[in-house]
Amino acid sequence: MQRRILHIDMDAFFASVEQVRDPRLAGKPLIVGGAPEDRRGVVSTASYEARKYGVHSAMSLTEAHRLCPHGIFIRGNFEFYREASKKVHAILGRVSPLVQMASIDEAYVEVSGSQRLFGGDDGIAAFIKSEVFRQTSLPCTVAIAPNKLVAKVGSDAAKPDGYVRVAEGSEALFLAPLPIAKLPGAGPKTCEALELLGVRTIGDLAALPISRLLAAFGPMGYALRRTAQGVSTSAVETEHIPKSIGRETTFPKDLLDWKHIERVLHYLAEKSLYALREEGMEAQRVTLKVRYADFSTYTFARTLEQPTALDSDVFAALHELLPRGRERPMRVRLIGVSLSQFTHNQHQLPLFCGQLTAKWERVLESVDRVRGKHGFECLRSCQSMALGRDVKLATPALSR
Ligand SMILES: [Mg+2]
Repeated sequence: MQRRILHIDMDAFFASVEQVRDPRLAGKPLIVGGAPEDRRGVVSTASYEARKYGVHSAMSLTEAHRLCPHGIFIRGNFEFYREASKKVHAILGRVSPLVQMASIDEAYVEVSGSQRLFGGDDGIAAFIKSEVFRQTSLPCTVAIAPNKLVAKVGSDAAKPDGYVRVAEGSEALFLAPLPIAKLPGAGPKTCEALELLGVRTIGDLAALPISRLLAAFGPMGYALRRTAQGVSTSAVETEHIPKSIGRETTFPKDLLDWKHIERVLHYLAEKSLYALREEGMEAQRVTLKVRYADFSTYTFARTLEQPTALDSDVFAALHELLPRGRERPMRVRLIGVSLSQFTHNQHQLPLFCGQLTAKWERVLESVDRVRGKHGFECLRSCQSMALGRDVKLATPALSR
């Protein structure tokens, strides 16, 4: 069976979603990212109408405003983008179980086994493009090739609202006429160095004697050449759901001070919960792990009534488990917590989880956002703060 990989990329995704939501924006130069007076902001997405003026992603808003003063600048609505992305994801799941969302608006699908059912590459692409348009009114570009590398370059070349298929054996031929900057992995520095060697297109690079590449780039020369020939073996990585998330640590010396042990446990639980929410998961089982001075290891677990991603729920469960850990009159060598029995966070309706939970979910969302920017340590509970500002665990063992 031939290996066929599909890459789908939504066209000017955020801008297109806004144009569908508000038809008055359709056909207008729209810039999503912020108002021009948001000095430090950058363009997140520019509609194709705005791109004509030279506006592109990652450009400063000030610069975008200079190039396109009559453009419509908006801050954007992430929830709508996520909603559209979910719909696209679901459509891809109908084509193949092997879907890798590479970002909110981009995915790889292993379609080798879907050929018969949909009538080959063309049938698969037609189904996806029409179904995405029917359900979201959004344009997208699809490329199908023998590997991820060529599929990705393909969709970029076929934009917007395009479709391209690259047959097995014609990877190098397809890439050859494209400018070298289109090659994944060839950053500005590499491109500059290649241009000094007289390389303009990907084909030029593929034809360069390997000795010259090795002289200029060292061993990386081999990889560059393989990429230029369209050779890649990386697999579509389907979403991987961990079975448990936990953190544990061994103390520098065995301890009897349960007050301190408890603080460390709080800290470990906070770290685990942060990781859990990052995965978009909720856990229903909380396990406390204690290793004593004689190396005997005990676990104490509690199953909650409902799955949770809230610190307070997990702390409460740990406090119920702690007395059992204290029963053995022995020094403690290691302490750990792990969360398991996962379900995807449903963003439960307040109707089911109560106003207080909904409020805490919102608080934690902001906490995590700040941590994402400034690091985990910047916001912690008062219990774990009792350990001091910079917690240095002797063995910061991470388990997944
Ligand atoms: Mg895109």
